[in-house]
Amino acid sequence: MNYEPVIGLEVHVELNTKSKMFCRCSADYFGKEPNTHTCPVCLGLPGALPYINKAAIEDCIKIGLALNCTVSERSSFERKNYFYPDLPKGYQISQYRWPLCVGGRLQVTGDRGQDVTIRINRAHQEEDTGKLTHSEGVTLIDFNRSGVPLVEIVTEPDFTDTAQVRDYAKKLQQLFRYLGVSNADMERGDMRLEANVSVRPVGQKELPNYRVELKNINSFRFMVAAIEHEIKRQIAALEKGEKLSQETRGWNEDKKSTFLQRSKEEAHDYRYFPEPDLPELKVDRLQVTVDSIKKSMPELPWDKSKRFVEELKLTEAQAKMLSETKELANFFEEAVKAGNQQEVNAITVANYIINQKVDIKTVKPSEVIEKIKSKSAGLISDARELEKLAQEAIEENPQMVEAYKKGKVTVIQAMIGSVMKKTGGKVNPNKIREILEEKLR
Ligand code: ADP
Ligand code: MG
Ligand code: ZN
Repeated sequence: MNYEPVIGLEVHVELNTKSKMFCRCSADYFGKEPNTHTCPVCLGLPGALPYINKAAIEDCIKIGLALNCTVSERSSFERKNYFYPDLPKGYQISQYRWPLCVGGRLQVTGDRGQDVTIRINRAHQEEDTGKLTHSEGVTLIDFNRSGVPLVEIVTEPDFTDTAQVRDYAKKLQQLFRYLGVSNADMERGDMRLEANVSVRPVGQKELPNYRVELKNINSFRFMVAAIEHEIKRQIAALEKGEKLSQETRGWNEDKKSTFLQRSKEEAHDYRYFPEPDLPELKVDRLQVTVDSIKKSMPELPWDKSKRFVEELKLTEAQAKMLSETKELANFFEEAVKAGNQQEVNAITVANYIINQKVDIKTVKPSEVIEKIKSKSAGLISDARELEKLAQEAIEENPQMVEAYKKGKVTVIQAMIGSVMKKTGGKVNPNKIREILEEKLR
């Protein structure tokens, strides 16, 4: 029997607001002396009352809007009850039945280059817990992180391969940085991934009646490895006639395998109930409108990339590279503007920035145009000579040619780069590209 994976993703992102979610303590806790950013609210002392951080709510709305969610006019907070030493209140304030943002979607690319739409169930607001450090037989608790705003984004189980999952996670990271709501650094734990994995016979419509939640994933690479391993483990178990059950597993990077952490609790184990100390969250009471939040948002990376292809005629690979960060995209657009006045077109600017690996921190956009202009003075224009250079690039780089033929079209940049190097930059990269593409067709 053939099986297909069913994967859903939960992403937590820590917001970089000035203060914590429900008190005025500074949320900038990283590297600070333990237990110095605390107060009765985030220490969970009895009788302390929480109040809502508006800046965090606005960030959550931005994330929701970017993911095509509906922003709920009214939402509310609930207590998620469980006992663990990093959670002094004995419950986490979260959203459950009435989340702030619901029902979005994001387009991702799969392992065969196919477009897939991932439905987003919700993007809700919650708070972080304290941090435990286990060392030499004791456990230390630091409450500086307790109460730092977190947004959780939950997808429907729509992923069917790990390329889609990776693309989704990368896009979210890029989005958080574009929106300026988080550094989204995985190693520091600003952004955390949990994958839910099950498998079903190909053709089966219903979801499997179990799911395995993978935790402790702190890089994109580990996430892919953990999911791939889990898919294989589950298929092998089913083929042996075993029954799989709802559980939480961790990823062991040394052993390259997943291990059982606990059999999974269900939502009812948390005894969610409305947070009695917080009022219902009404967006129209925020003193800013959803519309004004929307207007304050930058152009999103995927919209930028699309515009670079449509308006500036860049290749998709170039557009993607140049919209990687907001800073690089702005730099490129500034350079294009400067180039417009001097008859240097956008494609030339894009090629130059990519091929020369221009350092946007030390070079000004206008300098890029100057350099392009001075270079274009001594360019090789003889068609036969260009042909020869392209042919040599092909013969000298068999691995790149192979990669290109397998669909990794971006290697053509490196081939163009090799010609540029050989000639001391005396060729027009667009011309060489045309010839190379022709020859490799
Ligand atoms: P919990 O609070 O238990 O983590 P959530 O509702 O937050 O539950 O998250 C459930 C996640 O599991 C979602 O991302 C959802 O898409 C995913 N999921 C649900 N059913 C399956 C399944 N059969 N296989 C894989 N993932 C699933
Ligand atoms: Mg969850
Ligand atoms: Zn506090």
